[in-house]
Amino acid sequence: MLKIENLHARVEGKEILKGLSLTVNAGEVHAIMGPNGAGKSTLGNVLSGRDGYEVTAGTVSYNGIDLLALEPEARAAAGVFLAFQYPVEIPGVNNTYFLRAALNAQRKQRGEKELDSMAFLKLVREKLKVMQISDELLHRAVNEGFSGGEKKRNEIFQMAVLEPQLAILDETDSGLDIDALKQVAQGVNTLRSPGRAFLMITHYQRLLDYVVPDFVHVLADGRIVESGDKSLALRLEEQGYAGVRHGAVA
Ligand code: ADP
Ligand code: MG
Ligand code: MG
Repeated sequence: MLKIENLHARVEGKEILKGLSLTVNAGEVHAIMGPNGAGKSTLGNVLSGRDGYEVTAGTVSYNGIDLLALEPEARAAAGVFLAFQYPVEIPGVNNTYFLRAALNAQRKQRGEKELDSMAFLKLVREKLKVMQISDELLHRAVNEGFSGGEKKRNEIFQMAVLEPQLAILDETDSGLDIDALKQVAQGVNTLRSPGRAFLMITHYQRLLDYVVPDFVHVLADGRIVESGDKSLALRLEEQGYAGVRHGAVA
């Protein structure tokens, strides 16, 4: 589904990604771990096509197409979803309205018919039920006054409605208490499917106790320096990132 080769990217003129390669197949969950400032969020931002991230070398192929050639809207329509480390608040914009606009923008890009409010409401009710989320979130403005846990749950809910093929979650676990963490993990587990892949960016391994990844990668100084299974995350938890900066995990 996703093949990243030798990716180099700059932010504000500074090279952050320095030859990153990664292959993700449909149905797989990959955890990306690494020290602060390693380039984890930059990777998510480059993949989603965020402004200000300049790719200087390398390729990203997504379902056989050149992902980097697509505008951000086209990437979203093609099924790439990025949940931000720090979700934005949009005061005054109703959450349901926002989600419907996002979904319909994607449908339009794909040449599909927009959902009318009845059809959308039906979809939303289904998803709320599956994700075990209270409909109270819907009636508020986007993320306004949401607690950290509510923002993250809202992201998972957005993901459930948008049904991405490639979901990139950037530190969806940060700042969550254990109950909120479990709820977010349960949401991710519910959305795992053979056709969908996840890139879970996380600084800590505790989320991985609840969402068991197929692969764990260490991103340090702009590239993947080690890959393994869940045991790699446990080892990092014990040993910290001190040894990985130059590619050497003991
Ligand atoms: P991580 O998510 O692994 O903690 P980031 O990808 O956020 O790391 O950041 C990697 C490096 O790029 C850091 O040194 C950070 O300061 C820099 N950086 C990231 N985004 C920006 C930006 N928008 N403007 C300036 N520097 C940035
Ligand atoms: Mg960081
Ligand atoms: Mg980050």
